[in-house]
Amino acid sequence: MEKPLDKIGPLDPPERILMAPGPTNLPPRVVQALTAPLTGHKDPYYLDVMDEVASLLRYVFETSNPTTLVVQGTGGAGMEASLVNLLEPGDTAVVGVAGLFGQRMVEIASRCGARVVTVEAEWGRPVDPDDLRRAALQSHPKVIALVHGETSTGVEQPVEPVAEIARETGAFLVLDSVATLGGIPVHADLWGVDFCYSGSQKCLSVPPGLAPITVSERAMQHIRSRSSKVRSWYFDLSILEKYWTRERIYHHTAPVITMYALREALRLIYEEGLEERFRRHRLHAAALTAGLQAMGLELLAEEGFRLTTVCAVRVPQGVDEAKVRNDLLARYNIEISGGLGPLAGKIWRIGIMGHSAQRGNIVLVLSALEESLRQQGYPVQPGAAEAAASRVYAEASATLAQG
Ligand SMILES: *Cc1c(COP(=O)(O)O)cnc(C)c1O
Repeated sequence: MEKPLDKIGPLDPPERILMAPGPTNLPPRVVQALTAPLTGHKDPYYLDVMDEVASLLRYVFETSNPTTLVVQGTGGAGMEASLVNLLEPGDTAVVGVAGLFGQRMVEIASRCGARVVTVEAEWGRPVDPDDLRRAALQSHPKVIALVHGETSTGVEQPVEPVAEIARETGAFLVLDSVATLGGIPVHADLWGVDFCYSGSQKCLSVPPGLAPITVSERAMQHIRSRSSKVRSWYFDLSILEKYWTRERIYHHTAPVITMYALREALRLIYEEGLEERFRRHRLHAAALTAGLQAMGLELLAEEGFRLTTVCAVRVPQGVDEAKVRNDLLARYNIEISGGLGPLAGKIWRIGIMGHSAQRGNIVLVLSALEESLRQQGYPVQPGAAEAAASRVYAEASATLAQG
């Protein structure tokens, strides 16, 4: 039944501890930026903000690409922008698929009219670079596309070997860094990524709605000289770049306030420093992993391929997956995620991302999980998870003290 309009009360959302793989909690300075005065999108102040955001993004993407900008829309808009700009009907794309987001790339590439060659891996494993090499040598693709951090499985895809294949075959390398940018290293230039996109609400800790991208000059030259027009007007980078990097020709009304928030979040990243930020993410991921394993829980991804920023943990036999998530939300205000696609009901996914990646949150998630699991009759030694996490933190501070 639709609510009568006079029953729609004042906005009063709950204050959650956001430990799903995005969105994350917002740093206070980002919240403050969201309440700053709105300017017009052609205001000289805002035009400076655009330049500053681009400079800060070059730092985070580790790139000197002039075409580094923000596309309106969530991470999926970044994905769509990458493929729709690089692919023309009849082109071939080789796409690595080891989870939901790889599948989505296949869907978008085929909508661009491309012939799509998928190189699959079991969900929970990375795509094998040898398989990708074989596919690329056979099909001479225009694009090789890959997900860096597969959020649906908690697997990190090694990029270096795939970048080498792209270099050998001359294909453009597209990299999805939605779940990784600002959490683990994304070396856009060093790896030679031609089109790297991300999303604001994951490790950057900005509200959802913006997709930062960076595009190599080689890819931009191709985009500017395509024989057919890009099939999306809104995402056509040959038009969009004239708003961002050239003559400031009107393209859209910028989401000024969220851009302020992104600017502040990027400033925070610069102040923290990339190396320190990556170390912090690794530390909290290690503590969480140790705690989960101390409870006898199994991780989906094998050691060596575990994604620092998303931990996928198997639901033990006899435990009701959704009930645990509901308990965490109802009793502790903690949000974590369940599995997607074939892994629905089989795993939980916990984010170690941006501002949410804090010791207090890790410890709280572990003790809340422990309580909920015990209530369902799953045997856990009380306090074991927290103790294991504490050991990781103690070792880290001892190492730091030794310098
Ligand atoms: C979250 C995510 C996306 C999609 O981002 P939205 O902001 O939900 O559109 C794409 N790729 C990866 C790897 C993600 O984690």
